[in-house]
Amino acid sequence: MNMHTDIIVAGAGAAGLASALAIGQSGRSVRVIGKPDVGGASRTVALFDGSIRFLEALGVWERLAPRSAPLRAMRIVDVTNSLFRAPPTVFRAHEIGLDAFGWNIENSLLVAAMADLLTERGQVAITQTLGKTYDFQPDRVSVETDSGSFTAQLAVAADGRLSVARRDAGILTQNWDYPQVALTAILAHTRPHGEISTEFHTRQGPCTFVPLPGIADAPHRSSLVWMMSRSEARRRQALKPDAFAKETSEISHNLLGGLTLLTPVGAVPMEGVSARALTAQRLALVGEAAHVFPPIGAQGLNLGLRDAAHLAQAICGADDPGGAGPLDAYSRLRGADVASRSFGVDTLNRALLSPFAPVDALRGLGLYALREFGPLRRFAMREGVMPQRGAPLVMRQGEAENA
Ligand SMILES: Cc1cc2nc3c(=O)[nH]c(=O)nc-3n(C[C@H](O)[C@H](O)[C@H](O)COP(=O)(O)OP(=O)(O)OC[C@H]3O[C@@H](n4cnc5c(N)ncnc54)[C@H](O)[C@@H]3O)c2cc1C
Repeated sequence: MNMHTDIIVAGAGAAGLASALAIGQSGRSVRVIGKPDVGGASRTVALFDGSIRFLEALGVWERLAPRSAPLRAMRIVDVTNSLFRAPPTVFRAHEIGLDAFGWNIENSLLVAAMADLLTERGQVAITQTLGKTYDFQPDRVSVETDSGSFTAQLAVAADGRLSVARRDAGILTQNWDYPQVALTAILAHTRPHGEISTEFHTRQGPCTFVPLPGIADAPHRSSLVWMMSRSEARRRQALKPDAFAKETSEISHNLLGGLTLLTPVGAVPMEGVSARALTAQRLALVGEAAHVFPPIGAQGLNLGLRDAAHLAQAICGADDPGGAGPLDAYSRLRGADVASRSFGVDTLNRALLSPFAPVDALRGLGLYALREFGPLRRFAMREGVMPQRGAPLVMRQGEAENA
């Protein structure tokens, strides 16, 4: 069996499903190759205002809103014991005219809601298997799977950090490791989070508590992303739930009161991946197939959703969506955003890990400046939520309709 569609999307994670929904809306025929992955019960994603706007346009946000918690403020607390540490800094969304910086949602709910919507709309076919090999030709791409082979004008690689489509297109990557692991969990706590996300900066990386909505048995919930050295991660993963909760409470200075684990503790080794190009003949990379960096400042999937939105924007009016013109346009739209976010997160993480006093002093000074100088602070908040120049049309307030 060999079936043809306009576009193949490889990978049914959040970036792939968002790409498929967005491209499907423009009337193209789309086939997703991949199994929607709704596992990973201990992980959530904080999605910023622009991403929410995109999910609204895709018609999926109304299903997710009741199960998400708003992030009205973000607090950074330096607990590194550095000589130059700045006092706690709180950034409030209303300072930049937003109700909330974004919303926090369980990963599994996000992926399941997008997969359900695709199935209900019937615009996009899903073949729940893996793409095994890709063959890129000047006028088409074909992929071999256990369920047959498929050809298209364009393949969208959303098949994650080990992307097979990227490999077969010959796009090289730069890969590096960090000496850290992120432990993740969902916690119940006795004090309310007040819709404030709190990041404790430790010498081994940030420990972040992100608000979640309450549920019947747990009126106060947050998700935890705690970056630490590999040996500490091994030790803490082996702790009994009560002992893990106690150590988590200690690091947070008991901010949220008594803690109880609601999920098993997940562990993600920290690494960086940067694809040398975002496109190749008949191929566009989105999400972690293009860029991987540590979970600091909630940048990863927000960047991946901007990839999806920009890709749909670049190819929607083209006669040949996989031709050189639309792919060049996609590369131009994404280059600066991907490079600046990857560099920014990497630099922040390394600054925290660095034992050198001058680096510490710069980090402390940076945080102090953000705390004290309104214009700089508002610029940083706006830029953190979304690039102020060149964001996808669908994510810009009031502009999509006028474009
Ligand atoms: C601890 C942690 C916390 C995070 N918090 C945030 C946050 O708050 N905000 C934020 O924006 N980002 C956050 N991120 C980043 C975010 O989780 C990722 O950017 C996002 O999940 C990547 O989505 P993706 O669809 O690109 O990749 P994936 O989720 O990895 O999806 C790729 C999919 O492709 C499939 N696949 C693999 N190979 C094949 C193949 N050959 N054929 C078909 N399918 C294949 C996989 O099974 C998978 O389903 C966090 C990351 C971590 C580790």
